[in-house]
Amino acid sequence: MKTVILNGKSRAAELLLDLKGLVERLVSTYNVTPKLAIILVGDNIQSSIYVRNKLARAREVGILAEVVKFDANCPIESVLNSISRLNIDPSVHAIIVQSPLPSGWNFGLISQAIAPEKDVDGLHPLNVGKLASKLNQGFVPCTALACLELARLASFEFAGKLAVVVGRSNIVGRPLGQLLLNNDATVVICHRHTSELKEITTQGDLVVLATGQPKYFTKDYFKPGSIVLDVGISKVDGQLFGDVDFASLIGYVSYITPVPGGVGPMTIAYLLSNTVQSFRSHLGLN
Ligand code: NDP
Repeated sequence: MKTVILNGKSRAAELLLDLKGLVERLVSTYNVTPKLAIILVGDNIQSSIYVRNKLARAREVGILAEVVKFDANCPIESVLNSISRLNIDPSVHAIIVQSPLPSGWNFGLISQAIAPEKDVDGLHPLNVGKLASKLNQGFVPCTALACLELARLASFEFAGKLAVVVGRSNIVGRPLGQLLLNNDATVVICHRHTSELKEITTQGDLVVLATGQPKYFTKDYFKPGSIVLDVGISKVDGQLFGDVDFASLIGYVSYITPVPGGVGPMTIAYLLSNTVQSFRSHLGLN
């Protein structure tokens, strides 16, 4: 079987080009520039790389992006106070908190503090609830949107098909499960306590891995011809790996995303797309 490698980088470049045109038109019409604030706590190297990539892509499309940095040992109140200020700052249209936070930090408490209309990562309970109740008005987490688009690029039919998502985090697994369900797929979400995981994943027409276990998912976790989206990113000996044992799936599955260059660039494109959506709302355009 021929395996198509889904090029997230080039699809993301197309999305960013469209966004750039849109931002240019909005800025010249309204004389205001969209602005994203990124809260970064601690000095996790991976988080710093994610933030650097977000800043670079934002600059390319004409979005101002500001990093608000905190020491891992600072009190949570400092971060909450900063979010309160950003919430009421009219020059800021979008706020995200870079994950992972240092251990012991309560991500839920922090994401609940972000004003829902600026919560472009879609983690505030109001936005979570809107997605769950299929209201289509709130912000949807960017990685979930990225995976949905990649599934579409792979011609996944949704209705009548089984989608298996491994990982149940608030930023990836849960919202992606909802999105796939809202698009009429039959969805199973798996996690560490799922027994007979392999028996489930080998039934999936679409299988999404978001566990952070490098190269864990070998060929025997998939059925021939399935679509595989690899969200995981892990650094081992200075090299990036996904959750999937990529090489063993070539010639076996129909579509697969590479790491790097698959879900990652698409996630950033959707973050900036959500930022522009928030900016448009601020201008009274949505
Ligand atoms: P979390 O650690 O929050 O969640 C991991 C999930 O995977 C948990 O639900 C966990 O189960 C499950 N899991 C872990 N190991 C296994 C296993 N062996 N079998 C079954 N389930 C397992 O991680 P995130 O969701 O934040 O991120 C997941 C990965 O995706 C990371 O590598 C991260 O770097 C990457 N990522 C990539 C993005 C991108 O743009 N490409 C964006 C966001 C994340 P349980 O709940 O039971 O513990």
